Amino acid sequence: MTAGLIVIAAVFGLLIGSFLTVVTERIPNGESIVAPGSRCGACGLRLGPLDLVPVFSWLFLGGKCRRCRTSIGIEPLVLELGTASLFVAMTLKFEDSIETVAFCVLAAGLLALSWIDLRIKRLPREITYTTLAIGAPLLVIGALVRDEPRRIWTMVLGAALALAFMWLVHIAAKGGMGDGDVRLSPLLGAYLGWLGLPYVPVGLFLAFLFGSIVGVGAMVVGRAGRKTAVPFGPFLALGTLVAVFVGRAIIDRLWPDV
Ligand SMILES: [Zn+2]
Repeated sequence: MTAGLIVIAAVFGLLIGSFLTVVTERIPNGESIVAPGSRCGACGLRLGPLDLVPVFSWLFLGGKCRRCRTSIGIEPLVLELGTASLFVAMTLKFEDSIETVAFCVLAAGLLALSWIDLRIKRLPREITYTTLAIGAPLLVIGALVRDEPRRIWTMVLGAALALAFMWLVHIAAKGGMGDGDVRLSPLLGAYLGWLGLPYVPVGLFLAFLFGSIVGVGAMVVGRAGRKTAVPFGPFLALGTLVAVFVGRAIIDRLWPDV
């Protein structure tokens, strides 16, 4: 593991994070993420390369448009730094392997989905399916490179298990669990299943645990009634990512023989 690899992961994370800013703004509105180029939402100023350097442009311009000084919000900064941090974490965990790329794809997809879900309580299927369409082939290649083809089967089985479970929850909750969460579950199940089937229940359990902690907390401080739909996507994302990093330790405790 070289320091160079970490730096590459961080730079890629900043660039992908900058791209996610565009994705999270445009995909929910059904707009193209390729054209037209980025513009200021207030005055229409076309943003040049110097306005789009991750983190630095934002800091240099104080989070405001260069021409009209309208605030562009903290969104680009959070997404850029968040993506870079996750990419570095994945690189530290999976080192110089195809898995690093595959799990960076997952991290980027989950970050974009969580951000949109927090903002407008939606999990656009375009992002869910694109993440799976890029990630699954990488995981298959990773399994073959490691000469561990059984991972391909646990990946498929994990996706099916997660989908079946979330679908049952969706039916039992009678609208309390959105269908965007159900659609997201095969993606999470595939990645966790690739790591090992026990990761699937661990990831889902952590998601519901985090969700109930925050849900109960919100009720206690009186900000959410029992009927308020709490966006669950961010908790599914968090449960999955925590399972990726500490799932092994949890599994070793629960099922020492697996
Ligand atoms: Zn402007």
